[in-house]
Amino acid sequence: MNKEHRHIPFITLSELKPRVWITLSDCNFKCKGCFSFAREPIGEPMTVGQLISLVKKSSSDYYGDTPLKEVVITGGEATLNRHYLVDLVSQLKEFIAEVVLDTNGYLLDDAYLEELIEAGLTEVMFDLKAWDEKLHEWYTGYSNKRILANIRNAYGKVKLVVNTVYIPEIVDEREIEKIARFLSEIDKRKVIDYRINRFNRALSHEKISRNPYPEEIERAYSIVSKYMKNSVIGKSCVRERKIKEKTGWITVLPDGTVKRRSLADYREENKKMLAKSVTAV
Ligand code: SF4
Repeated sequence: MNKEHRHIPFITLSELKPRVWITLSDCNFKCKGCFSFAREPIGEPMTVGQLISLVKKSSSDYYGDTPLKEVVITGGEATLNRHYLVDLVSQLKEFIAEVVLDTNGYLLDDAYLEELIEAGLTEVMFDLKAWDEKLHEWYTGYSNKRILANIRNAYGKVKLVVNTVYIPEIVDEREIEKIARFLSEIDKRKVIDYRINRFNRALSHEKISRNPYPEEIERAYSIVSKYMKNSVIGKSCVRERKIKEKTGWITVLPDGTVKRRSLADYREENKKMLAKSVTAV
């Protein structure tokens, strides 16, 4: 039995469809604009078995007989412990059809990816922070060469999504155009989804820029559309919203406590956890 553990601050259930997000905290990168408090190892240490029980129990309590359709494993950085992640994917695959990995891509080389696909992984979302290598190093502490190679390698093996955060005057349309050109060169079948997300100054670790203006995002989007068929703005939870007003997130803590968090609660708690994790560094 796998006795390894990762720190879990919470898991999240979607109100829109039977989908769960698993947050594995801790990260190898130290992105200046990171707005995840999960950059540090916070939450409760849990084995894969404990985590699977939490997902099964909370999703059946919330969705009833409707089976989970999708799980997104995110962080922090989900790939830090390879044995743990492979085991987690393989156990999730036993009851969930779509198993998605959200990663900065640095550790996801060919052998690791193949192992995850073998275990049941169906989609990878790469967060590509910047095109320029020096800029990437400044922003994350690491070169992007391995990530670009890992994206190229993953093409054709698994469904692929690439995300970039638009950071005014730092990662702006010039950087985003270069990334879109790179993706279009490897994506002959035009199947990669490229998503442009917005920098959020209030939630970021370092206030390196302001929030982008809507017209800047639109301009970046129209540039990307010249290269890519599947380009979109924003996160999937926003795009897929069918209900008029999102009421909140269903947060499940490691001990099974369920909390409905409004957007305001979510921002407030994240700020607190972020402040705690910054002080702890
Ligand atoms: S943005 Fe993602 S990759 Fe960067 S430090 Fe935060 S959790 Fe890690």
